[in-house]
Amino acid sequence: MTRKQIIAGNWKMHKTHSEARSLALEVVADAGGGSAKEMVLCPPFTALQTVAEAVSGSAVALGAQNVHWEDEGAYTGEVSVPMLAALGCRYVIVGHSERRQYFGETDATLAKKLKAVAKRGMIPILCIGETKEQREKDETEAVVKTQLDGALGNWQAGDPGALVIAYEPIWAIGTGLTATPEQAQEVHGKIRAHLEGAFGEGFSSGIRVLYGGSVKPDNAADLLGCPDIDGALVGGASLKAESFLGIFRA
Ligand code: PEP
Repeated sequence: MTRKQIIAGNWKMHKTHSEARSLALEVVADAGGGSAKEMVLCPPFTALQTVAEAVSGSAVALGAQNVHWEDEGAYTGEVSVPMLAALGCRYVIVGHSERRQYFGETDATLAKKLKAVAKRGMIPILCIGETKEQREKDETEAVVKTQLDGALGNWQAGDPGALVIAYEPIWAIGTGLTATPEQAQEVHGKIRAHLEGAFGEGFSSGIRVLYGGSVKPDNAADLLGCPDIDGALVGGASLKAESFLGIFRA
């Protein structure tokens, strides 16, 4: 099955709304309409409206970096799925390792977030990945399977396009260390096989599994050429139009 690759930029806690407008306009101007890949920009919440306007009428999609699972309520500082939907978000990053590490997100809360996002017809990008210590102890496969099972326990198989997985080895995020294409492909293959066991072949062959971890224009082509890698989640290199577009064109 052919799967349209996704190149998603996770801007993390970078860019004021006016800086975000400039970057988004620069990216959109050069993204081209007829690409075989889908581009997604995930700015901070404060820049979602601005970036929504900048990408309007283009093929570039808008994504958020996090969300709460309740539609509304007394959750100071949180943002809900309907709020993101109203801004035109198509994607939401769920369970980024920085959220797990610094904000105590667990597989159980991620399961609730996934359900809430999917209920609105938005597409969660579920992040999973092992630490350096876990890789050194040969626990990578067990870790990603546990993360998948924990977050997807209530997931209903169905349209494989309704979910995206991002394999992001934590030791490769923001470190300049990248998994080799062989290392990444090996884990992606295991993720897909595990999803086949859980949800069937139709689902596993259609779902997009992105790689994230120090993707740059000069390593993107080799990673994106692997059979089970369906795109990239890009942090640092998404903050400059030139490097992000370099990855998009790889
Ligand atoms: C990320 O934060 O999702 C990420 C992959 O970051 P970087 O590209 O900077 O490693």
